[in-house]
Amino acid sequence: MAEKIKMGSNGTLEVPDEPIIPFIEGDGTGVDIWPAARHVLDAAAARHGRKVEWMEVLAGQKAYDETGEWLPQETIDVFNEYLIGIKGPLTTPIGGGFRSLNVALRQILDLYVCLRPVRWFPGVPSPVKAPHLVDMVIFRENTEDIYAGLEAEAFSPEAKRLRELLSENFGWEIREDSGIGIKPVSKTGSQRLQRAALQYAVDRGRNRVHWVHKGNIMKFTEGAFQKWGYELVKEEFSDEAVAWEDCGGDSGDKILVQDAIADIALQQVLTRPDEFDVIATMNLNGDYLSDALAAQVGGIGIAPGANANYVTGHGIFEATHGTAPKYAGQDKVNPSSVLLSGVLMFEHIGWRDVADEIVKALEATIADKVVTYDFARQMEGATEVKCSEFAQAIVDRF
Ligand code: NAP
Repeated sequence: MAEKIKMGSNGTLEVPDEPIIPFIEGDGTGVDIWPAARHVLDAAAARHGRKVEWMEVLAGQKAYDETGEWLPQETIDVFNEYLIGIKGPLTTPIGGGFRSLNVALRQILDLYVCLRPVRWFPGVPSPVKAPHLVDMVIFRENTEDIYAGLEAEAFSPEAKRLRELLSENFGWEIREDSGIGIKPVSKTGSQRLQRAALQYAVDRGRNRVHWVHKGNIMKFTEGAFQKWGYELVKEEFSDEAVAWEDCGGDSGDKILVQDAIADIALQQVLTRPDEFDVIATMNLNGDYLSDALAAQVGGIGIAPGANANYVTGHGIFEATHGTAPKYAGQDKVNPSSVLLSGVLMFEHIGWRDVADEIVKALEATIADKVVTYDFARQMEGATEVKCSEFAQAIVDRF
């Protein structure tokens, strides 16, 4: 019988053999990629004696058309109750009262980690010479920094008041025609992200963790993130991890924790990708890093993602690309991003065997050069197939 996934008293998920998992199909190409991905996820689960009871919930255009709301309360309630869910891309409503539906979901459920694993699948077209060296997992902070959305528009009464307050109280003079943004970075927010990254490295046998920051310029936000990260290593992970400065780079069996300034990190992930493994960083740095890294391994058509709260157990796994409206309904685009998000979800709930089977079959499909248009146009001798045919080709290789 299908049951809910629950959070156990020991802080780990309790997952039944037949979990109920809510999904949002997604707008635009969601109608193509979600059924394709679901076909693969279901077929793989069945081979391991498991089954997902999918429960559709609405958000985005489909929700607006059916209920008049972009993000119905019921959808939020269901994600809240069932903990783990998956979603396709959503149209950002213009003037709908949301900055973005994705941001709204992250904020409402306090999904403080944006998880982006980035690895290369042999055969995927890549702009770099050694894409096989790319195997990184980015933990991007989701609730603070620029995502806090604290901004006052230039020439607004709010910006004027802020300028006056800063001038009077701190002697900080800000040019009169400035918009002003506030960048809060807390110890709580930083350390819960860093804790998740360190724990992930411990659980998955990863051997390096980098704090990526811009602390040389922004000492009390980005610099504090780095400092709090190292404090956490000492206070909570001293058995499993050690900071570079405490071991001179020789961490033995322990995880080596070091940091990198954001600008040089963006260079080094390109020139020395094998030196990066798990990366924890704040919101804006993480935004740049995740897309730059995804580009090295084949682009957003194949990059999976998740937003999670490791304390409450909530996690929403999602395609990282948008709705690509010009291709909607054509059964054309690559379903790998949402499919690999499903794989990430299966790993997250402990279904590693199911996840591994899908990854192996996906690798075999790409190695056979059976691919959707986005890869076909960059590969010699490829067989271009539709979105649904690509999914079937994966299932055929189980
Ligand atoms: P987009 O939908 O990501 O599409 C940009 C380009 O990326 C497409 O034209 C296509 O490139 C490629 N692409 C996207 N999905 C693909 C797939 N599954 N397979 C292969 N290639 C794929 O970005 P956008 O056009 O800027 O945004 C459209 C809408 O999506 C907007 O409403 C935006 O707000 C929303 N959006 C939602 C999310 C989300 O829900 N997470 C994220 C980003 C944007 P080619 O044309 O070169 O083939």
